Amino acid sequence: MGGKLALLGGRPAVSAGRDRLDELFRWPIYAQEEEDAVLGVLREGGMSGTGVTKAFEKEYAAWQGSAYALGFCNGTAALQAAMFACGLGVGDEMICPSVTYWASAAQVYSLGATVAFADIDPATLCISPASIEKRISPRTKAIMVVHYLAHPADMEPIMAIAKKHGLKVIEDVSHAQGGLYKGRRLGTFGDVSAASLMSSKSLPCGEGGVLTTDGLECFERAIAFAHYERFDADIRTESLRPYIELPMGGVKGRMHQMSSAVARVQLKYYDARCAEIRKAMNYFWDLLEGVPGIQPHRVDEATGSNMAGWYAARGIYRAEELGGLSVTRFCQAVAAEGAPCGPGCNSALHTHPLFTTADIYGHGKPTRIANAARDVRELDGDLAESVRAGSRTYSIPWLKQFRPDLIEQHAEAFRKVSANYGELLADDPGDPKTIGHWHFYNSRA
Ligand SMILES: *Cc1c(COP(=O)(O)O)cnc(C)c1O
Repeated sequence: MGGKLALLGGRPAVSAGRDRLDELFRWPIYAQEEEDAVLGVLREGGMSGTGVTKAFEKEYAAWQGSAYALGFCNGTAALQAAMFACGLGVGDEMICPSVTYWASAAQVYSLGATVAFADIDPATLCISPASIEKRISPRTKAIMVVHYLAHPADMEPIMAIAKKHGLKVIEDVSHAQGGLYKGRRLGTFGDVSAASLMSSKSLPCGEGGVLTTDGLECFERAIAFAHYERFDADIRTESLRPYIELPMGGVKGRMHQMSSAVARVQLKYYDARCAEIRKAMNYFWDLLEGVPGIQPHRVDEATGSNMAGWYAARGIYRAEELGGLSVTRFCQAVAAEGAPCGPGCNSALHTHPLFTTADIYGHGKPTRIANAARDVRELDGDLAESVRAGSRTYSIPWLKQFRPDLIEQHAEAFRKVSANYGELLADDPGDPKTIGHWHFYNSRA
């Protein structure tokens, strides 16, 4: 195996035909059952109802092991309701990792609260417990934990910090539905969790989101915020009862029932689908064990943790093991071998003007500090791991099927580039000044 790099005129490592590759990567996976479920809702005129959604909620809560689940029109809305459910309000601070999708944090402004960004752990790429402690102030009310790129965050120390300081914990499970941390489902550690179910996520339903909690008051606050049609006389939380019938958040979060119907079918097959993905992804990384420059971003499943559906799969890059070769050049060479590969992950949110200078509501000062008791903004040089995450990560093929011969070809693409890195150094343009993405949005229509 090996030979000349494809980027320099050699034969690509991936030789499989388009059909087999399409099958390997096809997403989302659906069948007649989803089509029938969607048509059933359409034919009954049930698009704006709640019956199918309530059935989905019951199944999702039981599957995850939570007392309550509440469907939403998308994950962003579910997270906003989770923030409200935790009591985040004017002047409060929520700690959130800087490297995540914007919807882990941006909605907090709508509540009059603000966000203090924490750094990430360089190995897990999830929020660093030590960094959380540094960002706590008297106004901190909650910690947003993101199981980033399907890697479980380190929940034991995080929950200990939350307990010590009396903070609420919200889990953003949008990358890791159904994943495990030391044998226990993600989304069951914090006070409340929320997840996206949009079509590129590992549990796809179209557009949708789901909030889960074990607390009745938390559940009812989420209903009160965004579900007017369910905010009725059955509400037991006294502080909410005066306002029944109209949504306290002034927003509408109802899930489209065509999405709920798809979600019910997807959930039935989800654990088996994730098991297949993990078998494929773990095999890919096993083949690359010890290869210089490329380190896996995964967990040891012997600890009882796992990578769920391995959403937005990435690896950790170590330029120092490849003569300083930029990740940009590395990815060009792997892609030329025929394996999907690109540099970076989510860009560090604390560097975006939305979180430094934007005056969104006309306060006459940046929204970030409009209601805050202190200037929570980070300084240049803070959150060093978040800033350099882009040059330390690259996407890897998200394998949906265990097809050893195809996986071997893809692993060979990475191995071959690592082995021949010396030939890439001369024409290495280096990384651009900023590397990474504000989001991964990529629609097919
Ligand atoms: C996708 C995503 C969301 C938002 O979900 P939508 O369904 O797209 O609104 C929130 N957090 C993270 C980490 C995500 O990846």
